[in-house]
Amino acid sequence: MASSAEARLAAVPAPEAGPDGLHAMFLGPYAENDSLLEKLVLEFLRDHVYWRRNFHPEDPPAIPTDAASRPGYQAFEARMRRELHLLSAALKRSVPFHSPRYVGHMASDLLLPGLAAQILTLPYNPNNVSEDAAPVTIDLEVQAGLQLARMVGYPDDPQRPDCAFGHLTSGGTLANYQALRLALALKAFPVALRAAGVPAIDVPEDDWAAFNLGPDASIALLSDWTTWLAGLPPRERRHWSAALAAERVETLGLVDFFARHPQLKVPKVLAPITAHYSWSKGLKLLGLGRDQLELLPERGMRLDPVALEQALERCQRERQPVLMAVAVLGTTEYGTVDPVDAVVDARDEWRERGLGFSVHVDGAWGGYLASLFRNPDGSFRPLHEVRQGFRRFPQPEVHAAFAALGRTDSVTVDPHKLGYLPYGAGAFICRDHRATALLAESADYVFHEDAARDGRSEEYLARYRRLGQFIPEGSKSGAAAAAVYVSHKVLPLDHAHFGQLPRQTILAAEAFHEAADRLAQELEGVARVVVPFAPDSNLVCLAINPHGNERLEVANAFVRALHRELRTDGRQPLQMREFFGTTTTLRPQAVGGAEMARILRDVGLDPSTLDEEGDGDDDHLLILRHTLMNPYLVDHANGISYIDRYLEFLAQRIRALQA
Ligand SMILES: *Cc1c(COP(=O)(O)O)cnc(C)c1O
Repeated sequence: MASSAEARLAAVPAPEAGPDGLHAMFLGPYAENDSLLEKLVLEFLRDHVYWRRNFHPEDPPAIPTDAASRPGYQAFEARMRRELHLLSAALKRSVPFHSPRYVGHMASDLLLPGLAAQILTLPYNPNNVSEDAAPVTIDLEVQAGLQLARMVGYPDDPQRPDCAFGHLTSGGTLANYQALRLALALKAFPVALRAAGVPAIDVPEDDWAAFNLGPDASIALLSDWTTWLAGLPPRERRHWSAALAAERVETLGLVDFFARHPQLKVPKVLAPITAHYSWSKGLKLLGLGRDQLELLPERGMRLDPVALEQALERCQRERQPVLMAVAVLGTTEYGTVDPVDAVVDARDEWRERGLGFSVHVDGAWGGYLASLFRNPDGSFRPLHEVRQGFRRFPQPEVHAAFAALGRTDSVTVDPHKLGYLPYGAGAFICRDHRATALLAESADYVFHEDAARDGRSEEYLARYRRLGQFIPEGSKSGAAAAAVYVSHKVLPLDHAHFGQLPRQTILAAEAFHEAADRLAQELEGVARVVVPFAPDSNLVCLAINPHGNERLEVANAFVRALHRELRTDGRQPLQMREFFGTTTTLRPQAVGGAEMARILRDVGLDPSTLDEEGDGDDDHLLILRHTLMNPYLVDHANGISYIDRYLEFLAQRIRALQA
């Protein structure tokens, strides 16, 4: 890489808001902000101590003041210190997510506001299962849900009856599971209402129609039902509540529910083939079975709307109900963005044709990119504005996908991925909170459509202070909720604030793409290096094939050997590694046959050596995968680009392996 370092550095401009803000956001690769974090931790630890002391200062200290000088105390302290030292020493073999030399998995440094809020909250140990155990942080979790709702374009004003609702989960896996649970509850509710024979409410004429109402009509029906129920005398209300409960899928279980409704088959979930394996887990957990997960082929790494249309036509023909269509916003393997707009259009169109289903967006990875598309006033930014300063982001299709987010039924977003927060923080958000009545453990049809405007906000909060009623988990971390809330308050989820972070990562990906093209030229005659598809967001892959080779297995073995030098190895000191990257595979089932052949030819491989049926090393192409989320990939102060350094390292290793 011979061209001047300065010219290359120019490829990633310094953050718009000036680097000063960015400089305070993280502990930093060199722990530059050590004294800031130390100050915060100490300050709020002391604050916590005063809180204990001022609770009932008349209570004398329970631990004797001379306890620390006793042998048993000292022995305990010694054992504790020893184990903590061992732990701390062992943790030195951890993965250096904080370093700009790490471009592997979806992890990076932690935002200081979130980290400090989490540490600060830990000793109070709030349990966000209910307000009794978390009088403060449970509200923060509900607010964090509204912050995320606003970012994706859902109604976020609790005074609106159809306001969104979001809550945190242990991760994206559980958020996706919650989406399945809610979609099934909504789909089965009208069927139960019919079966219960409730008078005075208009229900569809048969089970098939009831099962295919679609989520919005189902929510409307649920509202009618609750309003009607609320107007009954208590005895009748109890009677009809019980009659409905007896018919619900949540009471009967899948076996009895479908036995009672022989017109209905177990519904399918349609997802793109690149969908995360949490979808398979979710279908197993819900008892629908993995066979009900139908993986749709893609075109150009994105869900193919034509394939979706064909699948829906077949379902309609075979009277096969569909529970949900999933669109992925930033695939785990490639960072590509599915056409969310086409998927919600399909939902609306097929509902008219009698095949209703929900649309869920799995934005565990890419959800926070939505901040780039949002103005501080909440409005959506037009393409030409979002595009400013980028070379090709966002492609018009990607912009259209983000514009359609507000029309989906629910979304998964992971604060512990692109939200730069500690693990244990995923999020599920649904567009219309009224649906959650169907998830409640104890009959919960309490919301009143006619609540006074001012009362509604309070009612909304009161409802979700019983969070454990609605979520898959029970006891859960209030500290994690505090971290998410505070982080979003310090950096609101719009392009001018939080958006500065994803902006840096997209710029880094674009710079990486350009630098990789230069690397390809430089390595001519040594190896073919190709960016196999233009990145939609901030993941960039590299396909590599040694010069002169045409066979897939040889190329895969070469990339595997390269990756051995880029992998964390718990048995070796961290410092032995220069850089960290990961791999992924390209398969024709995901990429499409024509696209796969194009990529193989680009990298100098003979497409006929691909054996699609094979289960060996020749049914896929192994490629390097890079997650460019570290905010310090380009060090403007010292004139260092870790992107260039990484690629120089790669070039050197490629030459060495070829020698
Ligand atoms: C990471 C990821 C998940 C799973 O999230 P966890 O937080 O690991 O449980 C689901 N879907 C996508 C697209 C992801 O990237």
